[in-house]
Parts: sequence; structure tokens; C-alpha cells
Amino acid sequence: AKANGRDGYQFYTEDMNRQVHERLTLENALREALPRGELELYYQPQWDLEQGGLVGFEALIRWNRPGIGQVRPDHFIPLAEETGLIQRIGGWVLEEACRQQRVWEERYSAGLCMAINLSALQFNEGLPEQVRRILDQTGVDPSRIELEITESLLMQDPDASAGLLCALRKLGISVALDDFGTGYSSLAYLKKLPLDTLKIDKVFTDGVPGNDHDEAIVKSIIDMASHLGLSTVAEGIESDEQRRFMAEAGCTLGQGYFYLPPIPASQVETELLDLGHY
Ligand code: C2E
Ligand code: CA
Ligand code: CA
Ligand code: CA
Repeated sequence: AKANGRDGYQFYTEDMNRQVHERLTLENALREALPRGELELYYQPQWDLEQGGLVGFEALIRWNRPGIGQVRPDHFIPLAEETGLIQRIGGWVLEEACRQQRVWEERYSAGLCMAINLSALQFNEGLPEQVRRILDQTGVDPSRIELEITESLLMQDPDASAGLLCALRKLGISVALDDFGTGYSSLAYLKKLPLDTLKIDKVFTDGVPGNDHDEAIVKSIIDMASHLGLSTVAEGIESDEQRRFMAEAGCTLGQGYFYLPPIPASQVETELLDLGHY
């Protein structure tokens, strides 16, 4: 409680100092995270909704922070973007996911795919060359790699985005539009953009079956995508009812806790690949 204006003011600055201090501490720790090997990729399986088999994975970053535990990306990716650290972290994610994909290709020849998230800040003219170099270095099959980008980014400058997407697809990889339906996407742009996949956001999956609006939205996204020649991935499937709804609506792939959460590479091997689940 503030006794007078002056105390109130002091309280305010102390609070601000604490916040600035916490942010600096986090920023310094994040700067060291990559060289210290504290970053790790988890992999969430994606499943064929019609046939039921494992199709591939989405790579999702984790930060194993000493003395604190595991930090989810929502807590440090925004800071990495504000501080510019995202360039190095994002480069590492691309390399590590491609390296892992190549290892699994060799060890299991399972014909699986790897989806990799990109930050908006990575989506610039340098990206195709960076991706080309990583594809070369890792020797991964480009047709097995999909990059996930968010729609807000594309809509800012659709023409420049279309050019970049073309350059990426010339490398033989595919591109997915992440969190589809949550942003400002316009259907007109969608027709212009050379994409392969739409990822239906979890907010819509949450409402099916049962919510009439969400059911209508999901069905029309899937119909529209198939008319445009795009495949669809339903995110956040947590129940068998949701899985069945998405399958009956014609959605191509599904992922979510109903199947498996994101898991470390070692667990992918012991729980899926070693058992021949592909
Ligand atoms: P996203 O790309 O939309 O990823 C889906 C998020 O939903 C993941 O959270 C995943 O663990 C979670 N999820 C999957 N299935 C279910 C489910 O059935 N129920 C629920 N409640 N959640 C589910 P995560 O791993 O915490 O990642 C959060 C976000 O952080 C991602 O959202 C993505 O935008 C970003 N992110 C993750 N990894 C990377 C990365 O390597 N680079 C960049 N730039 N961003 C990343
Ligand atoms: Ca994603
Ligand atoms: Ca998503
Ligand atoms: Ca999301």
C-alpha cells in the first residue's frame, strides 16, 4: 500500500527495476543457452487420418535451463526475437532437425517427414540460401522437409512473400501455413501464395465435434484447401471424437495429445521407430 505519492513512486521504480533485472538475467542466460548445449528439439508425431499410420514429426524447441527446468518456447522465443538471438537459434533448429531427419532416414528408411517452425524474422532474402546450405550439409532428402510459417507474416507483404516461398520450394522442400484461421489471412492471398499445407489451429479443433461454428469453419477450410490442392493438418487433437471428426471431414493429417505429445528423439526411437511404427 502506498502511504503517499512519493512512496508510490518508489514502489513503482523498484518494481520496474526488478522486471528489467529479470529480463536481463533471462536474456544473458538465453545468450549462453546455445553454446552450452541447453537447447533441445522435441518431436511430435503426425498421423495419416485416413490410413492411421505415422507420417512424420513437427520439431518443437525446448530449453533445458540448469537449476530451473524445462522452458517452453512461448516463454523464450519472443525474447529471442526481440534480441536478435532468433537468427542463431533458428539456424540451429533448422540444422538440428535436418540432421535428425537424416539419421532416421538412414537408420530406419521409414520415409517420414520433418516439419520445422520458422520465426517471422527468419523469413528474409537470406533464408533460401541458408536452407540450401543446410540441405547440402546434412544430405537430407528435401522432399521430406516442410517449413512452417505463420500467416501474419505473409500478409504483411504478400508479393515479397510469394517470391520467397517460390525460392524455397525450388529447393524441393514444402511449406505449411501454421495457425491457419487465427490471423488476418485473406482467401485472395491464399490463392496467390505457393503453399503446400494448411495447419488448422487448435482453437478450431477444440470446438469439434459439437460447436456448430467451429464445425463449419473446419469443414470449409478443408474443402477450400483441397480445391486449392493443399493438404491439411489438424493441430491439437486430444480426443478420439476429434480425430474421427477431422478424418470424416477429409483432413489429411492429425497431431495432438490424443496420439502423443512432443517427445525427445530417444523416445521417438524406443516408442515408435524401433517398434516399426511407420
Ligand atoms: P505451434 O507451432 O502452433 O505448435 C503447437 C503447440 O501446441 C506446441 O506447443 C505443442 O506442444 C502444443 N500441442 C500439440 N498438441 C497439443 C494438444 O493436443 N493439446 C495441447 N494443449 N497442446 C498441444 P510448444 O511446443 O510449447 O510450442 C509453442 C509454440 O512455440 C509453437 O506453436 C511455435 O509457434 C513456437 N515454437 C516451437 N518450436 C519452435 C522453433 O523451433 N522455432 C520457432 N521459431 N518457434 C517455435
Ligand atoms: Ca507449428
Ligand atoms: Ca500451430
Ligand atoms: Ca500456435
